[in-house]
Amino acid sequence: MTILITGGCGFIGSALIRYLLQHTEHQIINLDKLTYAANPAALAAVAANPRYHFKQLDICDAAALQQIFTQYQPQAVMHLAAESHVDRSIAGAAGFIETNINGTFQLLEVSRHYQQQLPELQRQQFRFLHISTDEVYGDLATADAPAFTEQTHYAPSSPYAASKAASDHLVRAWHRTYGLPVIITNCSNNYGPWQHAEKLIPNTISKALSGQPIPVYGNGKQIRDWLYVEDHVRALWQVLNRGEVGQSYNIGGNSEQQNIEVVKTICELLDELAPMHKRGYPLNTKHSSLITYVTDRPGHDLRYAINSSKIQTALQWQPQHNFAVGLRNTVLWYLQHAGSL
Ligand code: NAD
Repeated sequence: MTILITGGCGFIGSALIRYLLQHTEHQIINLDKLTYAANPAALAAVAANPRYHFKQLDICDAAALQQIFTQYQPQAVMHLAAESHVDRSIAGAAGFIETNINGTFQLLEVSRHYQQQLPELQRQQFRFLHISTDEVYGDLATADAPAFTEQTHYAPSSPYAASKAASDHLVRAWHRTYGLPVIITNCSNNYGPWQHAEKLIPNTISKALSGQPIPVYGNGKQIRDWLYVEDHVRALWQVLNRGEVGQSYNIGGNSEQQNIEVVKTICELLDELAPMHKRGYPLNTKHSSLITYVTDRPGHDLRYAINSSKIQTALQWQPQHNFAVGLRNTVLWYLQHAGSL
């Protein structure tokens, strides 16, 4: 099989490509524009693999997409390319509308025209897997409100979440109207190696290691469900192979945490693994002394919680990393990567 992956130089896309090259025999075509969020170093270990092909390309460029489909004749598309950072979407939403909505539209159109001219069997077997977020559901007002299911209605809060919600609607409509064999996944907050420094966990680690204030929005009591990226890519592979066309699947990590607890746990791990006195600070200085509360993000969602029972029952997928283990692995990875161990 030839699998076309968009956004493969990003955090989740690169983990997916490493996973697929290691665990399958398939050909992987990675289409990525290489925005600020891309990190080709995350693929350095597999870049020379003869089953891996990279093309720098903007998914809004339909002609370039068409050429790739004609050249590589993919059997599946896994669509991860997106502008993905909520704060950036608040500062300026245009790029989010362009890539997340228009880019998804262009990719759907090229996929549909390509799929329709395939021979019958291949036409049926073709899959378009759209990777989306639990942020399309908005937030939960209380700690005991039931978690999002696939039936929860869409109520996105940020420009990022709204652009992803719009892309989900397009994908569903291309199935309903044109019969494109699509599947959608909505996952919770990912974490793990190679995440961009702008996101909560790597940002906390890097600020702590450089002795800068560690910013925490508002009172830090926002709750997120944390999903280890390797568990997520395993789920995506299951969904692509065994998921039902036209369905969506929630993917969560069963690990709800308040942001402030995540930050404090990272500080404790760093106190143990990379104590501040080794970097010239007085003995017993704690990383938590760097925590600084800052003005809350506008429209900040209070709580996301995801009910993954559908994928767990239908596809027998379970997250394998609990948060304590996953976070320790992640902190160790960033320390090794920063040369701090
Ligand atoms: P990321 O920001 O790390 O990477 C995005 C990648 O897409 C980058 O390599 C970038 O160069 C590429 N890209 C951006 N615009 C493009 C364009 N116009 N054409 C081609 N490539 C383009 O994102 P991520 O964290 O890896 O997320 C991947 C997907 O998963 C996104 O669709 C995101 O919405 C979704 N998601 C992420 C999370 C998370 O916690 N990271 C949670 C839920 C859903």
